[in-house]
Amino acid sequence: MDPKESYNKIFSLIEEHHRWFSNSLPLIASENIPSPAVREAVASDFANRYAEGWPGERVYAGCTYIDKVELICNELAQRVFQAEFADCRATSGVVANLAIYSAFSNPGDYMLAASIPSGGHISHGKKEHFGTAGFVHGLNIEHYPFWKEEMTIDVDATKKKILGMISDNKKPAIAMFGGSLFLFPHPVKELAEFMHEHDIYVNYDGAHVAGLIAGGEFQAPLKEGADSMTMSSHKTLWGPQGGIIVSLQKHAENIKKAIFPGNTSSHHLHHVAGKAVALAESMEFGKDYAKQVIQNAKSLAQFLAASGFGVLGEKRGYTESHQIAVDVSKFGDGGTIEQELEKANIILNRQLLPGDIKAGKHYMHPSGVRIGVPEVTRLGMKKGDMETIAAFIKRVVIDKVDPTQVAKDVSAFRKDFQKVHYAFDNTMLAHEYVRFRK
Ligand SMILES: *Cc1c(COP(=O)(O)O)cnc(C)c1O
Repeated sequence: MDPKESYNKIFSLIEEHHRWFSNSLPLIASENIPSPAVREAVASDFANRYAEGWPGERVYAGCTYIDKVELICNELAQRVFQAEFADCRATSGVVANLAIYSAFSNPGDYMLAASIPSGGHISHGKKEHFGTAGFVHGLNIEHYPFWKEEMTIDVDATKKKILGMISDNKKPAIAMFGGSLFLFPHPVKELAEFMHEHDIYVNYDGAHVAGLIAGGEFQAPLKEGADSMTMSSHKTLWGPQGGIIVSLQKHAENIKKAIFPGNTSSHHLHHVAGKAVALAESMEFGKDYAKQVIQNAKSLAQFLAASGFGVLGEKRGYTESHQIAVDVSKFGDGGTIEQELEKANIILNRQLLPGDIKAGKHYMHPSGVRIGVPEVTRLGMKKGDMETIAAFIKRVVIDKVDPTQVAKDVSAFRKDFQKVHYAFDNTMLAHEYVRFRK
């Protein structure tokens, strides 16, 4: 392709992507659809500037308006998460976690985190798995004892494990809560005091659940005793891609240095503007949204279970969050099912479930899929629509109907859900392609 052909091809592919997504059911648990307002902020000239440092103490000139927006962003984050301190400069959830590792541990220290099949994230992972904590910061990772039936961390076994680590001279520097397969709150309240008694720093990774916490509908980690909370700004929170850290005031200076100069140079100022808009929307609409998200997740779990799927966490009502985990091993493997559903315009992802690694399953072909409802909720879907989604999934996975047939019905169903809800403005369509070129 000559340059002009490549140039044109790029735009036609992006436009096709937009068309596909406006005809699909986006059910990836870590994704959301930002409002047109967030997209406008992200498309601004803030994208082309440097700031570095803290508002008022910048390394670069030209930050008059950027500083004001960033201060509003930090103030909104403090209010939304009821935090003494907020830093909105992390360019992603991983960078936010790295900043916490830099600020509160040294390479060679120990950290306690959930294993990946128990819901942990690769940024909490071991060196031999190329996990950020081990591979980049040199931490030694130990895993929380996990209670598979309850789908959460086992409190008593964790205390015992920590005491054992202390007597082996391996006292953890950091206890990391939170994860990516995250159905029920983690026992922060039950463990934070114990951690602090043993001088262990407590971080809560709210990457997935930040929008639910913002709405007051999940646990409140800082109130429960966490020192800090890291998060992504684009999962249940509906901002642009990025990270945020909120914490107790006493940790502010350490965190600020760990973000800059420690782990960022440019901190993506257009995304800071987008985060500020998303936080303002969250203050106004976040509670209603979070309630509906959790109701939708529970409804979808019930409808899928009634259709013959094995949904995890049955004993506890399947979920208290935005996502559900489904064991699909009766019908195939998670990887293949993910691909079949994609052909039906149903976009979700495969998932390692507790026990999969021990059973020798590879992450490409695990026994589960994970389904998240933040984006379809923002598109205005409610309980009855969850029944429709469950029926689409059943047709593909259990009835083995040709997925391209199902895709047509999915597109027809999506016609009524083209706008973003829970926003100050939604004149532009949710997945509308915005053209700048003439
Ligand atoms: C997604 C996720 C992250 C990483 O966030 P990015 O913004 O993608 O860097 C970190 N922790 C958890 C628990 C996550 O689920």
